Amino acid sequence: MAEYQTHDYDVLVIGAGGAGLRAAIEASANGARVGVVTKSLLGKAHTVMAEGGIAAALANVDERDNWKVHFADTMRGGQYLNNWRMAELHAKEAPQRVRELEGWGALFDRTKDGRILQRNFGGHRYPRLAHVGDRTGLEMIRTLQDHGIHTGMEVHMECTVLTLLNADGRIAGAFGYERERGRFQLFRAKAVVLATGGIGRAYKITSNSWEYTGDGHALAYAAGASLIDMEFVQFHPTGMVWPPGVRGILVTEGVRGEGGVLKNKEGQRFLFDDIPENYRAQTADNEEEGWRYTQGDKNARRPPELLTRDHVARCIVREVREGRGSPHGGVFLDIAWIKDRVPGGAAHIKKKLPSMYHQFKQLADIDITEEPMEVGPTTHYVMGGVRVDADTQMSDVPGLFAAGECAGGLHGANRLGGNSLSDLLVFGKRAGEHAALFAKGNGISSLNPDQIEATARCALEPFERTGENPYQVQHDLQELMQDLVGIVRREEEMERALGQLEELKQRARKVAVTGNREYNGGWHTALDLQNLLIISEIITRAAIERKESRGAQFRDDYPSKDEEMGRFTIAVRCTDSGEMRVTREPLRAMPAELQQVIAEMK
Ligand SMILES: Cc1cc2nc3c(=O)[nH]c(=O)nc-3n(C[C@H](O)[C@H](O)[C@H](O)COP(=O)(O)OP(=O)(O)OC[C@H]3O[C@@H](n4cnc5c(N)ncnc54)[C@H](O)[C@@H]3O)c2cc1C
Repeated sequence: MAEYQTHDYDVLVIGAGGAGLRAAIEASANGARVGVVTKSLLGKAHTVMAEGGIAAALANVDERDNWKVHFADTMRGGQYLNNWRMAELHAKEAPQRVRELEGWGALFDRTKDGRILQRNFGGHRYPRLAHVGDRTGLEMIRTLQDHGIHTGMEVHMECTVLTLLNADGRIAGAFGYERERGRFQLFRAKAVVLATGGIGRAYKITSNSWEYTGDGHALAYAAGASLIDMEFVQFHPTGMVWPPGVRGILVTEGVRGEGGVLKNKEGQRFLFDDIPENYRAQTADNEEEGWRYTQGDKNARRPPELLTRDHVARCIVREVREGRGSPHGGVFLDIAWIKDRVPGGAAHIKKKLPSMYHQFKQLADIDITEEPMEVGPTTHYVMGGVRVDADTQMSDVPGLFAAGECAGGLHGANRLGGNSLSDLLVFGKRAGEHAALFAKGNGISSLNPDQIEATARCALEPFERTGENPYQVQHDLQELMQDLVGIVRREEEMERALGQLEELKQRARKVAVTGNREYNGGWHTALDLQNLLIISEIITRAAIERKESRGAQFRDDYPSKDEEMGRFTIAVRCTDSGEMRVTREPLRAMPAELQQVIAEMK
């Protein structure tokens, strides 16, 4: 085997977003020697983009909130496909994790009496999101990074992991390359935590950064882990739609939480006409009540703009399809109207939503304190991910852990806003702790040189070919997923997508790059493409298998929920012979005491 620069760790964390950093801190606190690998620079992981806040039942703004309400909201939002144990741990532990973050120096917005301020968000019964204006992710990353660096971890920045290494029936490390110099790097580790984020770059219109190419999902799949719930891709209802160059960039739900309303071109608040039965009792039936809710009136019910994302996104699509959309194919989101109600309205909007104000001013030349925004759905988040044990976060592969967006289970068919940042903290901590424990009980495995050599050879092949540009294949893949496996799905279109994915795989095998290995964007794209193709096929096959509409999956050919399908999760894994196997797996029965909680919160 060739000589590679080699690093030995007890715990290797792949990803330096909220989940990865929190896992690294905990593994280190448990005595493990920890390495962190990140595709981007430290501080630049996708978590930094998070805007609206962290969901935790602190009950600072509404004393009626507690873990039970948060648990019930999360399960209802996920249409009861969630791993109930994860939802329980998440609801119970999120407040502790937020206070801990505060203890480490995070400066949250404050209530008048000095406690952490919480805001309204879709699907949360009470104001629950701890936030820092609309820049919560930045504060979270800054705090975790500062704290983590002092607790001890070695960081490998701008290094992309290409494969996980297995030996003796468990994980043995990872192999990747430095993006800057193109040199290969070998990591030997007793335990590995995947914290690589999402898959948004499989779609044309997305709020996700360039990093989101589903690497962790694909690495885990190739290593023998199962992925679950992959049909559930969240299309956030409010992304920018104009100008074309910024299409997909997120407009935080915080705008609606602060009183922003959605209207069609006729000026009608169309969401009032379509309130799902299971939310009717909790939803305002007139505009005045909705407004009072956003201003903290405890006797008011939420406006329909704060229903779950899957529902709001579908209503927007309907308005556009039926000819009631805005000029550029979206609808209007208006926060400027609150100036009639709030003293010093324009300054208030700028204070509550500083990033949104600047985003629209700079990118679209729109002053959101004066005019409505044009918004439409954008690919935002993947509920599906690596199947993990709820308490330990270990996958089906011994020694391989996953946390954050690349792990599945917590959110079921639809994630509530704010439940990702809390997910990162709660399950990042658990993954780090259990990875460290696993490392204590297991030595470093011997590596399989053939696996490493084959990965290195394969990675360099694009330099040796004359063929197609990888960007073109990536572009065609994104168009295909957007058109055929997007918000509204049909069997016949998804079958067509599978055929076209096969063709794209053939083309991807022939892509060529020029130049050398140093900072070669074409080469990076050629390598990312492999993961995007696997993930796209997994999403498509899982979506075909779920013959119903539920949460984020809307099937035009099966427009209703199917009670029988509600008992299964769809799992996808790679067989020993390399086939993609899709299976329906029964959900575990929920204990009576948690069923009771849900019944009480209806
Ligand atoms: C614009 C926007 C706003 C959002 N706002 C909110 C919000 O207000 N509240 C909320 O709860 N959620 C929000 N979300 C969702 C939330 O931000 C993400 O789900 C969350 O940050 C994911 O964190 P993570 O730690 O799992 O992954 P990330 O933060 O994405 O980190 C992934 C890490 O993995 C690394 N990586 C990936 N592949 C590889 C590889 N092959 N090799 C090495 N490293 C790799 C990356 O470089 C990165 O360091 C928002 C999302 C977006 C896009």
